Amino acid sequence: SMSHFIYADHAATTAVSDTALQAMLPHFTTAYGNPSSLYRFAQEGKTDLERARAEIAACLNARPEEIYFTSGGTEADNWALRGVAELMALKGRKGGHIITSAIEHHAVLHTAQYLEKQGYEVTYLPVDGRGLVDPAALEGAIRPDTILISIMAANNEIGTIEPVAELGRIARAHKVLFHTDAVQAVGHIPVDVEAWNVDLLSLSAHKFRGPKGVGALYVKKPLRLPALIQGGGQEKGRRSGTENVPGAVGMAAALREAVDGLSRESPRLAALRDRLIDGLTGLPYTRLTGDPVNRLPGTASFVFEGVEGEALLLHLDARGICASSGSACSSASLDPSHVLLAIGLPHAIAHGSLRLSLGAENTEADVDYILKEVPQVVAYLRELSPVWDRDAQKPTWEL
Ligand code: PLP
Repeated sequence: SMSHFIYADHAATTAVSDTALQAMLPHFTTAYGNPSSLYRFAQEGKTDLERARAEIAACLNARPEEIYFTSGGTEADNWALRGVAELMALKGRKGGHIITSAIEHHAVLHTAQYLEKQGYEVTYLPVDGRGLVDPAALEGAIRPDTILISIMAANNEIGTIEPVAELGRIARAHKVLFHTDAVQAVGHIPVDVEAWNVDLLSLSAHKFRGPKGVGALYVKKPLRLPALIQGGGQEKGRRSGTENVPGAVGMAAALREAVDGLSRESPRLAALRDRLIDGLTGLPYTRLTGDPVNRLPGTASFVFEGVEGEALLLHLDARGICASSGSACSSASLDPSHVLLAIGLPHAIAHGSLRLSLGAENTEADVDYILKEVPQVVAYLRELSPVWDRDAQKPTWEL
C-alpha cells in the first residue's frame, strides 16, 4: 500500500542521525573558517577537527595520529592499495604480490586490477559457500614478494563477517602489511585495530549514520603512506584538500553514538534480522546467502529461485519497501554479482537475490510488513516466470 515507506537498505547508506546533524550544523553556519587559517575565527574548526580525529581513534582503539580523513570508503581503499604499492616501489620492491579476496567491494577489486596492469601480481582468494576466507588458504598464498594482504571485515552483499583477527595474525607473523575494508563493520560490530592485527583500515561515515562523502583510513604508526592526493599539504602532507570539517565532526559524532549504542542496538537488529531470515527461508526454493552465524546484525540476504532480482526490487518499491539486489554500485549492470558467484551460486540463481539491511529506524512492524509482502511478490513473479514450473511449483532447472 502507498502508505508504507520502509527503508531496508542501510548497507547502501543511512540517514544522518540527529546527533551527527546537530554536531555538524555550526560548521556550516557560524564556525566555517578554514582550519589552515591563522586567525582565531578558524580555530574552532581546527579544534573540532582534531577532536573528531581523537574520537574516531578512540572508537577504533587507535591513536589520533593514525587517522587520516578521506572523501569516503572508496578513497580509503584506493589509497591503502596504491599507497602500499608505491611505498614498496620507493623502497626498491617494484611489482610485488598482493593478496585479496574474490568478494571485495569494487573499490578494492578495481584498484587491485589497476595495479595488475601496473605489473603487480594479485591473488584473489576464493571463499567458501558462506563467504568465508580460509585462514590456511591465506597463509598458503603468502610468497616472499607479497607486499600487501587486503581482506574485508564484513561483506556488503551477504553480510558475512570475516575472521579478520586471525587473518591479521597470519599477515603479521609473515611480516606482510594487512589492510581491511571495514566500511560495513565500523559502527555495526566492535572494531579494534589492535585486536584485529591490522596495519590499515578503511571506514565510511554514511554507513553508520554520518554524512556522505567523508571517511577515514587508519594507518598504523610508524607506517607512512605516500599521498594519493597532492596539493596544499593538509593531513600532514598525506591527504591534501581543505579539510571537510563538518563531515569529520559528523562522522565522529555518528561513530561515538553507534559505538555507545552497540550493546543495545546490535541484539535488537539481530532479532529483527533473524525474523526475516526465519520467515523468508521458509519459502520454497529460497536460500539464505552468507554465513548464518558470522553475519552483520542488520543484514539479511537471500536468493529466490525462479525470480529476477530487479523485478523483485521494483515490485517491493511499489509496495513501499526499499531494498537491494547484488551490490548498489553494480545494480546498473546485468551480470550477476561477483560475490554471489564466488559463494558458488549458479548464474541463474544468483540473479534472484535480495538484500534487506536494517537500521536504527526499523521496527517489528516493518518486519511484519516485509514478511507479508515479499512472499506475495515472490509468488507473483514465479507465476510469470519462464523458468518456473507452475504445475510443479518448482524451478524448471535440475541442479
Ligand atoms: N567498501 C565497502 C565494503 C562498501 O560497502 C562500500 C559502500 O559503498 C565502500 C567500500 C565504498 O564506500 P564509499 O561509499 O564511502 O565510497
